Amino acid sequence: MSLLVVGSVALDSVKTPFGQVDSVLGGSATYFATAASYFTDVKLVAVVGDDFPECHLEFMKGRGIDLSGLERSHGQTFRWRGEYGYQLNEAQTLETQLNVFQTFRPKLPPSYLNASYLFLANIDPSLQSEVLKQADAAKWVACDTMNFWIEGKKEALIQTIKGVDLLVINDGEARQLAEEHNLVKAAQRILSWGPKTLIIKRGEYGILMFHADTVFAAPAYPLETVFDPTGAGDTFAGGFMGYIAQQDRTDPATIRKAVIYGSVMASFNVEAFSLDGIRNLSRDAIGRRYQAFSEMTQFEPQ
Ligand code: AMP
Repeated sequence: MSLLVVGSVALDSVKTPFGQVDSVLGGSATYFATAASYFTDVKLVAVVGDDFPECHLEFMKGRGIDLSGLERSHGQTFRWRGEYGYQLNEAQTLETQLNVFQTFRPKLPPSYLNASYLFLANIDPSLQSEVLKQADAAKWVACDTMNFWIEGKKEALIQTIKGVDLLVINDGEARQLAEEHNLVKAAQRILSWGPKTLIIKRGEYGILMFHADTVFAAPAYPLETVFDPTGAGDTFAGGFMGYIAQQDRTDPATIRKAVIYGSVMASFNVEAFSLDGIRNLSRDAIGRRYQAFSEMTQFEPQ
């Protein structure tokens, strides 16, 4: 089943305690689509400026990502600059330049209208809503966001959240959005707005998923080398939604497996800067890490 994503395609400059990169390929939709491309067909909606290097488009096309919905506008590509300390869970945003996203109005090409699964990656919530209105055939919709939009566009964001099946955000964002420090209470408040499922990303501490009265927890893969956490959340979402779309099922058991595939993809991503950790993975490598997750969390019921 095909999977549609709207989000940012960006040029990132990132500093971590282990190195620094300037104007490298980034963006929420880029990480998402690359991770999802290992599981299913992906269609991408975004905008880039005339400074966007052709080699990045070639890379995405090479992964089979459909770029008919990627506009090229006059002006500069979206740029994000961030820094991490040894506490790698939290990025400090130093600069966000919306550039061509400021005037972007997403319009889905006709070939995108039949996509069954939709992911509204981190982007202006008003643009997320515009895509949601156009994607009539989408039978399951998930959404991400970040503090930038919670602070700047909270009303529009809550409107978007009301129309989705699943929200995927990190723990700090969940607390900020719900205005509630306790994560369980924050989850209850967010679920009361409409989504049936909430996934809270907790960086190196893994994932908490809330669905009706149930909670599912998954660890992050314990890694020796974590170079750059940028895009870990989007990569998680790409593996997660990619698996759901591949299986074309959203029952609780499939969703739990999808959480693990998302965690597997995110674990590869943080091992290198930019998208280098997920550019060229083998099915075997993905399968072996999934198996390692399974063994790591096996225990007998009481
Ligand atoms: P993550 O680390 O998963 O939160 O995602 C990092 C990616 O999100 C980077 O590649 C950035 O280009 C992109 N990004 C950062 N801020 C924003 C924003 N305000 N809107 C959309 N994308 C953003």
